[in-house]
Amino acid sequence: MSPFNGVTGARLPCWLLPESWPMQGNQPQRATLHFQDSGVKITPDDTVSRDNYLALNGALVLPPLIEPHAHLDKTFTVQRSPAQRPGLLAAIEAMHQDRASWTSEDIHLRASQALQWAVEAGVGLLRTHIDWFTTDAPPAWQVVGKLLHPLCTIERVALVPLPLFAHAEDAEEIARQVAGSSGALLGGFIHSSNWDSQAFLQLMQAAERWQLDIDLHIDEELTEGAQGLRWLAAYLQQHPFSGHITCSHGCALTHQADGEATLDILKHHNVTLIALPATNLLLQDAVPDRTPRQRGLTLIKEAMTRDIPLLLGADNVQDAFCPFGSYDPLDTLFSGLLSAQLSDAFDQASALICRRTALHANAPVFTHDLLIFPDADLASWPLRQRQRYRLVNGVVHSLSAGEPVDGA
Ligand SMILES: [Zn+2]
Repeated sequence: MSPFNGVTGARLPCWLLPESWPMQGNQPQRATLHFQDSGVKITPDDTVSRDNYLALNGALVLPPLIEPHAHLDKTFTVQRSPAQRPGLLAAIEAMHQDRASWTSEDIHLRASQALQWAVEAGVGLLRTHIDWFTTDAPPAWQVVGKLLHPLCTIERVALVPLPLFAHAEDAEEIARQVAGSSGALLGGFIHSSNWDSQAFLQLMQAAERWQLDIDLHIDEELTEGAQGLRWLAAYLQQHPFSGHITCSHGCALTHQADGEATLDILKHHNVTLIALPATNLLLQDAVPDRTPRQRGLTLIKEAMTRDIPLLLGADNVQDAFCPFGSYDPLDTLFSGLLSAQLSDAFDQASALICRRTALHANAPVFTHDLLIFPDADLASWPLRQRQRYRLVNGVVHSLSAGEPVDGA
């Protein structure tokens, strides 16, 4: 069977249609997507008969989903190393105990399972952080670097505790190794418990010297005094950064009177924010035998109002940080819809799990790769949407097998 030349009857979300797109009642008109050598052209459905176009009959269609923040090195370890107390710092303790078991084979098995689950959910881009414990890349860096999947691009971020950047020569050595790793980013864990502005400076300068993009775990706490994002904003005003910066967590912004002013500066420097609703709800304001009073999220709505690049991530899945999780961005989105009180799940909020420009500014909205929900149920989405498949270069791919199959 030859590849399809396009699709008809696609129900696309409003966020990726032009403002002039025709409406039918309160719904955008269904779309025809034409697969051309130059890219994907989108036009409103019409009555023209076309050769070899797949009829979607109103199925919901998105770009492949993005998992922008995972931890494939730690995943699926909760059974053997659960956290002994609530909260982030106790989870870090449990992780350090568990890593005695992290042989290359153990990491490969767990990370491969995570990747398979993500692909089955429709993920086409997965960014994973990998913990570094010294200035040398850990075994997991190489193990995850060798993971491949035909339907998913994998990006690695070196998650380095801030104190390891304290000496310029160490910062240089870390950045050198990351720069020598294909498509990798430099990252750090920046928190009140390890705050060191000089180390942060070395991190930024090393990234600049090696032309690295950055993805930080920053201000994952609800303390007014957290310094990470404030310091970064002040630094960027003096030293514009040539690469792209992503900031994950940023929970402290909701507790800082200058949180929105910080956001304004980050917006000016095109910084991307990633919110992690599941782990933030679970780990923030976590006190034994007491119902949490606070939600632990970053300034999600304020970031959306400012059109700051924003995504939602799963963060930890079935480890000491979070015993739950599925690697399904639709589950992450549902957590975000409730915890941040978002509306228009498909037409607007779906951008939070698939807008690729949030990570790669020049990425096209659509490539020849679509994620299709064949049993369209707009009112229920993102719930009750287990059936999905990818159409890549005009060929249907069943997601459970990762192999092309004939027909939809
Ligand atoms: Zn994380």
